[in-house]
Amino acid sequence: MTHTITLIPGDGIGPEVSRATQVVLEASGVKIDWEVQHAGAAVAETQGTTLPNSVLESIRRNKVALKGPIGTPIGKGFRSVNVTLRQALDLYANVRPVKSLHGVEPRFEGTDIVIVRENTEDLYAGLELIIMPGVAQSIKLITERSCTRICEYAFDYAERLGRKRVTVVHKANIMKLSDGLLLESFRKVALKHPKIEPAEMIVDACAMQMVRNANKLDVIVTENLYGDILSDLGAGLVGGLGIVPGANIGHEAAVFEAVHGSAPDIAGKGLANPTALIQSAVMMLHHIGESTAAQKIDRGLISLYERSEIRTADLGGSSSTEEFTEALCKAVATA
Ligand code: ATP
Ligand code: MG
Repeated sequence: MTHTITLIPGDGIGPEVSRATQVVLEASGVKIDWEVQHAGAAVAETQGTTLPNSVLESIRRNKVALKGPIGTPIGKGFRSVNVTLRQALDLYANVRPVKSLHGVEPRFEGTDIVIVRENTEDLYAGLELIIMPGVAQSIKLITERSCTRICEYAFDYAERLGRKRVTVVHKANIMKLSDGLLLESFRKVALKHPKIEPAEMIVDACAMQMVRNANKLDVIVTENLYGDILSDLGAGLVGGLGIVPGANIGHEAAVFEAVHGSAPDIAGKGLANPTALIQSAVMMLHHIGESTAAQKIDRGLISLYERSEIRTADLGGSSSTEEFTEALCKAVATA
């Protein structure tokens, strides 16, 4: 079966890592008809918007998109494409697996955490005001509806992927009402999922646990800001932004993308590590039911990283994006 999927190459290193990902998917044998759509700074020059309607239409039609990083032109009045996409498609769950690759960060080997981050509320609602000169207020907006659906997503995810425990990460000892609402919703949802062990952890303690006992954590469900910080911490544990994948999931569509940004400092130089987007594409393959191809790429990545000679510069190697991709394709073909 051929899948039609929207591809947004993105800005900066986006086109390079997107190209690499397409080639690796092809090597895995999966049949994809890419509908290439452009968004971001370059599009804004000619179309006056960073996110043309045709892009949203394409994603709604295909229900699945793979997206490279997109920078937001600073100071030109454009809204972030990432935020607009999330809101327009109501991509309420941000899923970020933090899994160590054998041979990359030996100290944190065995780490296998999945962070499920609420993607629409919290301090990201953008409700800020100046109360009087010298006094600013930022509103942390939390609704029961969003707490419940993100917790339901986390428990369903845990069941589907055979995980054992879901830990809600909060600061309800201080923010008794807002974080308290998350905690209450979590407890109610947990009762409906008796096969999964529920746990609760305060966010500062969680940060420490991630560093000291990363291998004891399983699935984490948390608010937008805590999720943002903890997932970058997680990325740091297992080898950095060049490695970790992500997915934005909603009821009508899913957008798979790396956690990293457009990295303009290394764009166009053939230095980018495409692993993060490739691993995001592996999540996408599971999502569309192509698990055989997904496992092939997984095995290819594991075998390539076990042999340490082929590494991109972010992991201390000297291989180019292209050399890495070529070696990975060979590993995938024989995996
Ligand atoms: P943006 O404004 O789009 O977020 P940024 O400059 O913040 O871009 P990030 O992608 O967020 O860049 O990452 C910060 C740094 O990490 C980059 O400058 C780059 O050096 C490095 N980096 C990020 N992604 C990769 C990657 N895939 N491969 C290699 N290095 C990367
Ligand atoms: Mg950035």
